[in-house]
Amino acid sequence: MKFYGKARIKLSKSPPEEFLEELTNIVSKLNEETLLRGVKNPEDGARIISFSFKDDVITFEIESGRLIPVHTAALRIKNFLLKILGMHYKIGIRELTLESPKVILNGELRINIDIPIIEEIASSNGQTIITLKPLNESLLQKPIFQRLVDLITEKEQRKQWGGKIEHWQKIKESQRKEIKFRDDPNVILEEIGWISNVAPGQWLFTPPFAHILRKFEEMLIDIILKPLGFMEAIFPKMEPISIGLKTGHLKGTPNQMIFASIPRSYNIEEFEPWQDYVTIYNEANPDFLKSFLESPKYYLCFAQCPPFYEFLSKKVFTEKHLPIKWFDRSGPSFRWEGAGGLRGIERLVEFHRIEIVWLGTPDQVIEIRNKLLERYEYFMDKVLDLEWRWAWVTPWFLVHAGETEEMGDKIDINQPGTIDFEAYLPYKGSRDDNKSWLEIGNISIHGAKYTRAFRVQHASGSVLWTGCSGFGVERWVLAFLSQKGFERDSWTKTVQEYIKDLPSGLEAANYPSPQYLNLKRAIEEKVGIKCE
Ligand code: ATP
Ligand code: ZN
Ligand code: MG
Repeated sequence: MKFYGKARIKLSKSPPEEFLEELTNIVSKLNEETLLRGVKNPEDGARIISFSFKDDVITFEIESGRLIPVHTAALRIKNFLLKILGMHYKIGIRELTLESPKVILNGELRINIDIPIIEEIASSNGQTIITLKPLNESLLQKPIFQRLVDLITEKEQRKQWGGKIEHWQKIKESQRKEIKFRDDPNVILEEIGWISNVAPGQWLFTPPFAHILRKFEEMLIDIILKPLGFMEAIFPKMEPISIGLKTGHLKGTPNQMIFASIPRSYNIEEFEPWQDYVTIYNEANPDFLKSFLESPKYYLCFAQCPPFYEFLSKKVFTEKHLPIKWFDRSGPSFRWEGAGGLRGIERLVEFHRIEIVWLGTPDQVIEIRNKLLERYEYFMDKVLDLEWRWAWVTPWFLVHAGETEEMGDKIDINQPGTIDFEAYLPYKGSRDDNKSWLEIGNISIHGAKYTRAFRVQHASGSVLWTGCSGFGVERWVLAFLSQKGFERDSWTKTVQEYIKDLPSGLEAANYPSPQYLNLKRAIEEKVGIKCE
């Protein structure tokens, strides 16, 4: 990677002949010292390849290597001149502009970057040249070049990843379980009226199903979280977009986030045209409504743990405060999954999740993750008796943050990374087909990704790590019902103990649909609801 540009320096007045005679020496000094400062290999530094002057403007043509990009070189030249001009000639510098800045890359890359400072991207003769618009000094002071270089590197790495979000490697699996049930619980739940669709990916859960979901939460809390000392906290469910900027979600997953807008004004009088419109047309017109709203400043709960990092931000911890072990289950998460991907409670727009979060030293974070894994395994095997498998997934975001690398055949899980928990859904088909498996939860060690982004500190200066684990309640219930069915006798002892006083589902003259009324009653009897 090489850089090129022309630093145009405008002085407060035309310099005297004497200074211009000195300029060749100044350029030599710059090339031999200033523009090589801090680099071992001169190729990595910068050099002035030509210069010219006219009236009060001096222009330096600069070529530079990786370590002293052209914008840094331009600033160094300016500071150097400033001293000489000020001291000997009482001349100041009015303006510094970098003209025709270019980033020159090896190879003909097909990269596409659409940001306003880029003028052109062209590749030919084994090179790719990115030309920027002229940069004024305030832009040169910002790390724009560095970020552009990072962005290009990221795009290149990403291509090598094949556009995937994560790499998947199985690390553990349960025994095969005898499958006695093959129906699709999504369909049954809707037919018997336990769940009712409200909008794409959003459902109303009637009391029997709500009861089952809550009991699964209770089992997780009683059997995994409380014994390990996790405490409940309540996190907000609408987050300022600035949080998403720090976590990286705003950049990485804007296509899946649901954004929220507040009204332009609190003054109801300003809504008079809207009120008149609604009165006359009785129509919820979103385009007209939009004109009364601000641009989105929030997004609805997406990953659930980010408010935890925001809370930790700038706090300083010592040994006695650590580790912190919390969980949140105070409200739903929202994800736009695209219109095609939604299906029953398998993939929802509004779903419920218990989010488990922890902070500590790297050793503490690994140990907590390992204890959680042990309990999760017990939960999957003994409490629910599921057929499951775990996969080490190397998420792109951790690779990009430099927290982890993709691994070969031998996997060391005691480092930043994610383990996905998947369950077999018999109604989907054969076990051999990956599509028959559903991610029901996961557990991650983030390394210092978030403690760095949110500046969470240890008083001693040593590094702090975080971890999180998401328990998607609907998905665990779906996995359980898919494998065990609605027959109470097929459920494990613990589940039977927890789900005892199941309320019966609602019946109205036309609900559930009359053709399924008998099915509803039969199922409710099988799960142990005493029907009248
Ligand atoms: P998937 O690969 O199925 O899209 P994900 O990797 O996007 O899942 P995470 O972001 O890791 O999921 O979220 C953690 C947990 O939240 C998941 O394991 C799952 O239990 C739950 N979850 C995520 N998205 C949904 C959804 N659209 N509907 C229901 N549950 C979900
Ligand atoms: Zn999380
Ligand atoms: Mg997803």
